[in-house]
Amino acid sequence: MPQNTVDLAIVGGGPVGLFAAYYSGLRNISCSIIESLPALGGRLVSVFPEKFIYDVPGFPKIRARDLASNLIKQAQQSSPTICLNERVEKILKVNAGFELATPLGKHHAKSVLIVGGIGVASPQKHSAPGAAKFEEKGIEYIVSDPEKYRDKHVVVVGGGDSAIDWAQELTSIAASTTLVHRTARFRAHERNIAQLKESGARIITDAEITSFEGNTHLHQVIIKHKNNLAEDTVLRADHALIMFGFRTDLSFMQDWSIELSADQDQILVNEKMETSLLGVYAAGDIASHAAKITLLATGFGEAAIAVNFAKTFLDPNEDSQPMYSTSIAESRKQS
Ligand SMILES: Cc1cc2nc3c(=O)[nH]c(=O)nc-3n(C[C@H](O)[C@H](O)[C@H](O)COP(=O)(O)OP(=O)(O)OC[C@H]3O[C@@H](n4cnc5c(N)ncnc54)[C@H](O)[C@@H]3O)c2cc1C
Repeated sequence: MPQNTVDLAIVGGGPVGLFAAYYSGLRNISCSIIESLPALGGRLVSVFPEKFIYDVPGFPKIRARDLASNLIKQAQQSSPTICLNERVEKILKVNAGFELATPLGKHHAKSVLIVGGIGVASPQKHSAPGAAKFEEKGIEYIVSDPEKYRDKHVVVVGGGDSAIDWAQELTSIAASTTLVHRTARFRAHERNIAQLKESGARIITDAEITSFEGNTHLHQVIIKHKNNLAEDTVLRADHALIMFGFRTDLSFMQDWSIELSADQDQILVNEKMETSLLGVYAAGDIASHAAKITLLATGFGEAAIAVNFAKTFLDPNEDSQPMYSTSIAESRKQS
């Protein structure tokens, strides 16, 4: 196998993939996380970052995006190789391991854990001129670190909960925050809309961005007002956050030579989270078994089961039952 081969390639950087990465470190398994989005956290950051979750053990109440940052911090303790903006399109059995192909290249691993949720997520893109040119040069579709927007001029585009919530939150740290939405009707909680109105953010409705402009980085946006009563607005924008939602795609799974559920939208696993391909495991929302329940709590448990059995696949002399993390931490401190 090539030199950069890891013990376990984790396909998907959602909550279950992140916990699997942490757990791999506990069991001395080197791992990589390959995620199609430009940020880790899965649906906790792409679909409902602003929502509170009430059924994560140990947290009476936690905001989805805060849970994602905790999981990222926890995963980082295991030093996984993190590959963002890469979707795994092929998983091939080669010699003693696996080759995973993405549009950017090939990854090699001795075993694989698929934690792809409901499929490869990709943002619905803005189509105005300049949107493609300034992607990741001022235009972002997901917030990976709010600090990036400190003292910057930010335009948030969209009318759902994520757009409203980020516009409100960034108002306290950005130099200016403007929300642009194509109608006067929002698809968000009334309380959030009221808080946004009180926050000091500028709100422009019945309007659309018709051009993103700048040199090497986004500098301004042109806003066209639908009623045509007002002139186009030219707005300073160091960043434009486009919050149009995400599409998901499960079609790649068809080519992975792994047995799928009858609906072809989940991967069949046994009680060890093994798929029909030896050395390949699945967990979280993408895994299907007789007792399946798609929740974070059950996904985290499945990740621990998958990693512990991957350990025995990687080294048959190892036990699937791990030492407790409390004992591992103590023995590492002493050595
Ligand atoms: C609105 C909403 C509210 C929810 N509330 C709760 C709640 O209160 N409690 C609860 O327990 N659960 C809740 N859930 C469910 C919870 O979000 C999921 O169970 C959880 O996100 C599953 O985690 P996951 O890591 O399996 O998948 P995901 O979070 O979907 O993450 C999977 C990641 O894998 C990536 N990926 C997929 N395929 C590939 C590929 N081929 N290559 C590279 N990357 C890939 C995707 O881009 C994605 O980022 C809620 C879900 C929604 C939509």
